[in-house]
Formats: sequence, structure tokens, C-alpha cells
Amino acid sequence: MRFCFSWFAFYFTHERSACFLGALQIRVHAILSVGMADDTEFMRLALEEARTAAAAGEVPIGAIMVHEGKILARSGNRTIRDCDPTAHAEIVVLREASRRLGNHRLGGTTLYATIEPCSMCAGAMIQARVTRLVYGADDPKGGAVRSCFEILSDNRLNHRVEVTTGALAAECAAVMQSFFAERR
Ligand code: ZN
Repeated sequence: MRFCFSWFAFYFTHERSACFLGALQIRVHAILSVGMADDTEFMRLALEEARTAAAAGEVPIGAIMVHEGKILARSGNRTIRDCDPTAHAEIVVLREASRRLGNHRLGGTTLYATIEPCSMCAGAMIQARVTRLVYGADDPKGGAVRSCFEILSDNRLNHRVEVTTGALAAECAAVMQSFFAERR
């Protein structure tokens, strides 16, 4: 909003430049809104996976792996169904995406997760060289992106992941809250 307002004020004080700058502003906004729309769309699919996981009695976290605008893998948590403590949604989609691309390195991919990834999943994303992470709600009890640890931006590691937070955060958090409220 601040960006918008300053450009708007500029329009009235510098009318001659306004045409070009106004066009530039529209283009910047168009690019931003297209990116955000895609993020929201993929996060809705991740939420679907989270809800499916909840119905199976799993902690409702969902993940989607995207490469060049196409979905490579989608899953919810599967730790109970697979009797596998590492079967978090993010790990499941990393494995599937690697199989599909035939590469254990996943440069150029974006991982969407409904909740801030834990230290295991963040570590796996570093190993896989994932380019970007978009997640919904923070996890103050174990999040390893910014809440408890900052693994994806640690300068001691040889790879860093670009992070976008807060996509459909309220819905992502609500799925978790209602799941645990029902179990109390
Ligand atoms: Zn995890």
C-alpha cells in the first residue's frame, strides 16, 4: 500500500513523467498479483491435502511441490499410515518430486507447505536445493524457518531458500486448531 500511495502522490506533482511511471507501476503490480495469485492457488491445494490428512487421523499439514508452474507432487502428513516418523508432508513431496524429475537436486522448484516446516524438513530442503518455500502459518513450537530455528537462511550452510510466509495463514492455522481441539 505504501508503494501505491507514494506513486500516486508522484503522479500529481510530476504529471509529465506520470504516463511512463504509471505504466511501469501497473506492470509491477500485475507481476506481483500474478505471483501472489499462483501462491494462493497452490496453497489452497496444500490445504486440501491437509484436510485429507486430518480425515485419516494424521496431523493436518499439507504440501505441494511445483516446478515451472506444474505440480510435481502433493501430499499430507503420512507418519501414522506409513508408520514412518519421517513421513511429513514436505518429505513425502520432496521424494516424489525427485523421482519424477530423476534428480536428487530440486533447483527451480517451489515447495508449498501449510505450516512452517520443522528442522527435519528444512534440512531436507537444503539437501535438495529447493529454490523457494511458501508456507502458511508459523509453528512457534518447532518451526525451523524463523520461529525456533532459521535453517533456511543460515549463512553457515551452502544453500539458502527464498521464503514467502503468510499465504492463507489463517486457514492453515484453523485446520490445525480444529484438529487438536477435537482431540482434547
Ligand atoms: Zn517436518
